[in-house]
Parts: sequence; C-alpha cells; structure tokens
Amino acid sequence: MQDREEKEDYTEYFDCQCNCTEHVLRFIYMGAFKDEEPELYLDIFLDNRTFLRRLWVGVKYIFGRKSSYGHFDNWTMKVEDAKKFRNMVDRFEKETKEFNEKEERERNEKRL
Ligand SMILES: [Zn+2]
Repeated sequence: MQDREEKEDYTEYFDCQCNCTEHVLRFIYMGAFKDEEPELYLDIFLDNRTFLRRLWVGVKYIFGRKSSYGHFDNWTMKVEDAKKFRNMVDRFEKETKEFNEKEERERNEKRL
C-alpha cells in the first residue's frame, strides 16, 4: 500500500466543444490510500446569479415550470479528449477492482 505522499491524485480538465469556460468539467482522481478506495470526483460550475434571479428561478422551480432545457446545462466532449477520459475511467475501474480484491484477501486472511 502506498504512503500518503506516494498516493497518486491527479486532476483532468475537459473543455466543452463550445469552449465556454462555464462548461469546463474538472475531474479529480484520488488514488487508494490505506482503507480508502479510489474516488473520482467531478466539479461543475454553477452559474452565479443575483439574489433576485436565483429567487425567480426558485419560484419557477417550486411551481414546476420547466424550460426546454430543464434545470440542466450541457457539456459536449471534444473527440480529442476521448482517450484522456477513457484512460481516467479505466484507471479508476482497475484500481477500484484491485482495492476491492485486496480488501477481500485481507478479510479472508483474518478468518483463517
Ligand atoms: Zn458548451
């Protein structure tokens, strides 16, 4: 198992095809450490609106009014980022599987 200093955390940024800075996704990968399994976080920008604008959006939400976009925005992956995205998800899947297998081995060793 790795020491805290050796734990491999890293961050990947993914721009949207529209290149709007509000549509940048930031993934934070945290490697396994001791009894903590690997984790993959996603940060998303939330539009910073004035109080009255937030209140108006909230009132519309309370009364169930929906826009054609709902309450979501969108992000469109650039094809050149597909490999970077795949590598990050593959790594998360592989290291989580290794972590779970290690945990299972340790549980079995304790039973013996
Ligand atoms: Zn966009």
